[in-house]
Amino acid sequence: MKLQQNIALRPYHSFACEEIASFFTTISTKEALIEAIQWANENNQPYLILGSGTNVLFTKQFNGLVIKMELTGIQKLQETASELLLQVGAGENWSHFVSYCVQKSWGGLENLSLIPGSVGVAPIQNIGAYGVEVSEHIISVDAFDTIKNEWITIPKQDCAFGYRTSIFKKEANRYIVCAVQFKLSKQPLLRTDFGGIKAVLHARGISNPSVESIAGAVIYLRSNQWPDPKILGNTGSFFKNPMITTTQYDQLMIRFPSLMAYPINDHTYKIAAGWLIEACGWKAVTKDQVGCYKDQALVIVNYGATKGKTILDFSEEIIESIQVKFGILLERSVNIL
Ligand SMILES: Cc1cc2nc3c(=O)[nH]c(=O)nc-3n(C[C@H](O)[C@H](O)[C@H](O)COP(=O)(O)OP(=O)(O)OC[C@H]3O[C@@H](n4cnc5c(N)ncnc54)[C@H](O)[C@@H]3O)c2cc1C
Repeated sequence: MKLQQNIALRPYHSFACEEIASFFTTISTKEALIEAIQWANENNQPYLILGSGTNVLFTKQFNGLVIKMELTGIQKLQETASELLLQVGAGENWSHFVSYCVQKSWGGLENLSLIPGSVGVAPIQNIGAYGVEVSEHIISVDAFDTIKNEWITIPKQDCAFGYRTSIFKKEANRYIVCAVQFKLSKQPLLRTDFGGIKAVLHARGISNPSVESIAGAVIYLRSNQWPDPKILGNTGSFFKNPMITTTQYDQLMIRFPSLMAYPINDHTYKIAAGWLIEACGWKAVTKDQVGCYKDQALVIVNYGATKGKTILDFSEEIIESIQVKFGILLERSVNIL
């Protein structure tokens, strides 16, 4: 195991703050992972598994071992006339993996094109976009169970997938995801109903969409909507869309008739967090080199703050103002460290 000391984390997370990890290693085999965990345990060091760092905010020095996942590989497990089973290493880049599938016209993940991050975190966050959640295409997840000290395969039905959550988040720090098994289709059900995909296809004169043309539309839409984290530090949506009861919704609608919300079931509404943030006047506001993105209030961007705490404080101000105005507690979707 190649162990580095006092490593600047700036290149390893998309907010690009100047926090330090006291120890750092990258692992590309399962054996190396076990070795790194053993080293941390024997030396009384906490450890943190890191993918591409696009959903974390370091707010202080990490006094322990950061283990960067670089377990790669895409393996075809099974292929029939209509579908495929693929096994993909946790350290593969998500966006590259989706492009790989799209190029082969294997359908299912095209609406999730261009989401930054690693394959291993896709099930943890149950990443989603344009009407699709990754859990719809997951068969099982291979992980190391740090409590039982054994390798396990967790079938989809035991992954407790929900909105941006899963068993891997609910039982935080227990499982280390090493590979994910996906089921993709050669005759996919194409999803064009969300977020302007249809309009882009129409503008491009496409009436009979394919996996490729949908991916192209999603990439076009995302490129115009989200700031590129390589240019402007961010983690995408900083907050989750909050859920409220129908009674709360009815009361809020009396005071705020333009409230943007969607019914989830007979008892629950999902509120657009971006709408709440805009309604509190935060869109495009900048303070201490941190701001709400001009085109998408849900995104907090780092314009040059060196400390993650500055970003955390800015998000706290947003949360407080929304609590005061709407009585809704916004939850962060990013992992605070
Ligand atoms: C511009 C932008 C747009 C985005 N758009 C979307 C979107 O549309 N939809 C969406 O869902 N998300 C979106 N995201 C969020 C982000 O891309 C995803 O959450 C992504 O899955 C994070 O992957 P990562 O490898 O960077 O995770 P990291 O930030 O590296 O890690 C996230 C968490 O998982 C833990 N972890 C990392 N690897 C493992 C592992 N192998 N096993 C166990 N724990 C692990 C870490 O300790 C950390 O707590 C966006 C982010 C950005 C910057």
